[in-house]
Amino acid sequence: MRKIRNRSAMVLLMTIAFFAGLIYHTVNIFIHAEEWVMKPQNQHLTAAGNLEYGGKIFDINNVILAQSIDGERVYNDDELVRKACLHVIGDDTNSNIFNSIQDIYRAELIGYDFTFGFGMPKNLRKGKDIRLTIDSKLQKAALTALGDRKGAVIFYNYKTGAVACMVSTPTYDPQNRPNDLETNDAYEGVYLNRALWGQYTPGSTFKLVTAAAGLENINDVEKKVIDCKGTDMIGDKAVTCEFSMGNVNMREAICYSCNIYFGHLAFELGKAKMTEQAEKMGFNSRIKFDGMESAKSIYDVSEASPNKFAWSGVGQYTTLETPINVAMISAAIANEGIPVTPYIVQSITDNEFEHSSSFGNAIMSHETAKKLYDYMDYAVENNYGKSRFSSKFDVCAKTGTAEVSEDGQDAHAWITGFCKDEEFPYAFAVVVEHGGSGYDNAIPVAAAVMSAAEEAINSGQTYR
Ligand SMILES: [Zn+2]
Repeated sequence: MRKIRNRSAMVLLMTIAFFAGLIYHTVNIFIHAEEWVMKPQNQHLTAAGNLEYGGKIFDINNVILAQSIDGERVYNDDELVRKACLHVIGDDTNSNIFNSIQDIYRAELIGYDFTFGFGMPKNLRKGKDIRLTIDSKLQKAALTALGDRKGAVIFYNYKTGAVACMVSTPTYDPQNRPNDLETNDAYEGVYLNRALWGQYTPGSTFKLVTAAAGLENINDVEKKVIDCKGTDMIGDKAVTCEFSMGNVNMREAICYSCNIYFGHLAFELGKAKMTEQAEKMGFNSRIKFDGMESAKSIYDVSEASPNKFAWSGVGQYTTLETPINVAMISAAIANEGIPVTPYIVQSITDNEFEHSSSFGNAIMSHETAKKLYDYMDYAVENNYGKSRFSSKFDVCAKTGTAEVSEDGQDAHAWITGFCKDEEFPYAFAVVVEHGGSGYDNAIPVAAAVMSAAEEAINSGQTYR
């Protein structure tokens, strides 16, 4: 790229870019008016210009993730860190990575002050620096564990909202962009941050939603027992389990993931109550934080036959969920039913801005959250195995193996849960696309991130 050395040419270009940006954003504000009004900070309204002289982006430990040196944008020295952080940081030569920090906070990074500069950058060559909450060590661990499989990992603090890890695959190195991004199937959907924008069949992780709906609406529902024979007619077709589980109550049904139990529970609750609880827990709306937003998780049973509706109660049918939504539900369970809003920008230099926690409305009662907390604890203790996650942290979790084809061969592997520990109070979600069983294939990915956190804590790091 040819460098622009002439200052007045640069100012002219930035002015043109400003007006182009203004037209774009005016249209954008018109379309999203309601959402924009709700945002406490609209600093990214002015995004225009490039990052050749932009500010630095740091991780939580002040590791430099991106900076500009001699008019060029350069990223972390470690290729794995660059790849692991691509979807959070973005790629300055390719704005296709929608919703990234370099996209949302471009104005701050290039030192563009909307209020005082009015179209003119106050200081052309010095932008603000941004410190993120992500930990490059956890990013790297998550990417290494996912390997060349497609999927997403998110870990965030259920007390403060700080996101320590958000990784999406496939990915690429923004320092050495591959030429075949558009043509190679291995890069399918590479521009998408799957942690926020991936919509997946949730499978059994959705049983937490059905269980919450049951606990909120039916007295003593957790004491109810059904006899699982491995297959049962609900409506005109069967709901099936992997094996006959015998007598199961809610705790056992979560632990061994009994489809028949939750198919019946959904059926007993009915469509209105199931929909109400799913929507309370984030379905059919977006999750937004720090200028980032997610796709909608979808729960729509309006056209479902009785049998399909029963299957919706076990996270099948047309139900789709984003990884951040899955993690948010675990975060609320860990925090007495109240989800903290995630955040990823810790601070912006020269701004008073320093993040503080904010909490949304309860998505379930304290009592319901406490019961689900105990059931997820029980599932790890009695089925998944505590030691498979971490030697240090005490983990509560729910796996999922989400069927996406008739033959059951292409299932998405899921795990969600949280660490009880004060030292690492994090909720998480992992999805491995077509990764097989959650038990076999998603648990090790979550465990790899925990193990990196353990190592960091042992070396003196604290996670707030
Ligand atoms: Zn069963």
